[in-house]
Amino acid sequence: MITLSSINKSFDGNRVLRDIHLTIEEGTVTALIGPSGSGKSTLLRCINLLEIPQSGELTIGIEQIKFAPNARIKGHDIRRISRQTGMVFQNFALFPHMTALDNITEGLVTVHKWDRAHARKRGEALLEKVGMLHKRNALPNTLSGGQQQRVAIARALAPSPAVLLCDEPTSALDPELSGEVVAVLRQLAQEGTTMIMATHDLRLAANIASQVVFLEAGEIVEAGSAKSLFTDAKKPRTAEFIASLS
Ligand code: ADP
Ligand code: MG
Repeated sequence: MITLSSINKSFDGNRVLRDIHLTIEEGTVTALIGPSGSGKSTLLRCINLLEIPQSGELTIGIEQIKFAPNARIKGHDIRRISRQTGMVFQNFALFPHMTALDNITEGLVTVHKWDRAHARKRGEALLEKVGMLHKRNALPNTLSGGQQQRVAIARALAPSPAVLLCDEPTSALDPELSGEVVAVLRQLAQEGTTMIMATHDLRLAANIASQVVFLEAGEIVEAGSAKSLFTDAKKPRTAEFIASLS
């Protein structure tokens, strides 16, 4: 289980996340929706500690960390938490000079100290899972966007993180290419991968998320099942936002 409790994040005094409380059950998918600038990416980055909140508490499984305004968080504690997470970015962020397979094995070997043969086996199994084994020796710039994103998902899953964080995973893709990424994400969801995903794609959210969270101006306005938010929102702002996208 993952819990965020009273998480606050400011940039230069500008409050971007306000008192965020969120619980994510193991094996479920949570979709973060909300206007541009509402804090979706920052929330994801506060879970893998690419950003350090000013206050609050974060728990991922057995790992817990507390934030306080003047407390310096140690690198060891950041790694202890960030290792529980895998991140998928809107623009794939593959290493351009490395093959699909090397993109996956690199972190396993250098960060996680796996031996090369073991990492290679893991990489090939994951490429097979996302339908990309036939492209194991291809460089990213020879792959379509959908193919690159599938490799990026495989890379994020390689060290078996407790949670997969996806920041607009289909937003850079044409509709015909986003379908193949959605299919992979849906399969992972069905297999019980815990995921938190920022997305503009309400169909994707409705399709795979058991919990949808509507953020606005750094606050959680409303959270609930996809069905309850999309057809029976309690707050007018939620309904307005959903209507604006549909
Ligand atoms: P979203 O992903 O929902 O579009 P973001 O989390 O990217 O929103 O941004 C939320 C707010 O935080 C925006 O106003 C953005 O300008 C600000 N912000 C995000 N990252 C930084 C940063 N590194 N420095 C300063 N402001 C930032
Ligand atoms: Mg964003």
